[in-house]
Amino acid sequence: MSFDLHTHTVFSDGTTSPEDNAAMAASAGLAGLAATDHDTTAGWERAAEACERHDIELVPGLELSTELGDRGVHLLAYWVDGDDPAMTAELERLRGERARRAAAMVAKLQALGIDVALDRVHALAGTAPLGRPHVAAALVEAGAVADHATAFDLWLADGGPAYEPKAALSPEAGVRLIVRAGGVAVLAHPGLATREAGTDLALLDRLVVEGLAGIESDHVGHDEVVAAYWRRAADERGLLSTGGSDFHGGRKDSEIGARTTPREVVDALHARRRQEVGSW
Ligand code: AMP
Ligand code: ZN
Ligand code: FE
Ligand code: FE
Repeated sequence: MSFDLHTHTVFSDGTTSPEDNAAMAASAGLAGLAATDHDTTAGWERAAEACERHDIELVPGLELSTELGDRGVHLLAYWVDGDDPAMTAELERLRGERARRAAAMVAKLQALGIDVALDRVHALAGTAPLGRPHVAAALVEAGAVADHATAFDLWLADGGPAYEPKAALSPEAGVRLIVRAGGVAVLAHPGLATREAGTDLALLDRLVVEGLAGIESDHVGHDEVVAAYWRRAADERGLLSTGGSDFHGGRKDSEIGARTTPREVVDALHARRRQEVGSW
């Protein structure tokens, strides 16, 4: 029995509801799934109810945005205390920062002569933290690009002409925040960000010092060679390796259950949380 430890919903930049995700996880035969929306815990309640109805387990989570120089580093946080004051303050700040940044990206697009309206970005996001996929959706809607992928390729990808970084914590501070909020921190999809392997291993070692528990070695964007590289990096440091689909509904070519984590590993992750909590 296994778990998909990385899924998104309309509570961030996915296109499906927590109920949809729970139904898909159940029909895929999973034991459970983690709800890991970007910078919010708002979907937890509905996810918990839906998982209960489908008789699967919910791992409450989120995907925390952090920044290292000019690139985003994502941390998966599991079982954090949703009421932890430092965590809730940072998540709220990040959501405000996302609104600032979406406006900056729209301004860059307009300066490039692209007719896209900030109002539409907000309308497409609803109450979700604003993300680049919402900007991409507005671009598709406006007829500026044929599809989501093209919006990223032309303008929105990291370092692209309309990209604007988020002001966020360093990855080290992000791990500390997660651990202090009673959670377990896992480095998300490290193989998507790799520029120089050596740099990333140095970062990894700094995160281990802060209490990182695992690496998302199995991600839909990692091929076998990349997955094996990160599994080994995890093994060598006594970290756990997790797997997740990074499901975003229609916004990503991935299905719930495309990558999974065995129950033993989920239990071992949970056990690390108790150790961390006990040490404070
Ligand atoms: P943000 O948190 O606003 O920086 O947006 C991050 C999200 O954008 C990711 O979770 C993906 O859903 C999406 N994304 C990032 N890079 C790409 C890309 N190159 N192509 C398509 N989607 C992407
Ligand atoms: Zn996303
Ligand atoms: Fe991510
Ligand atoms: Fe994600």
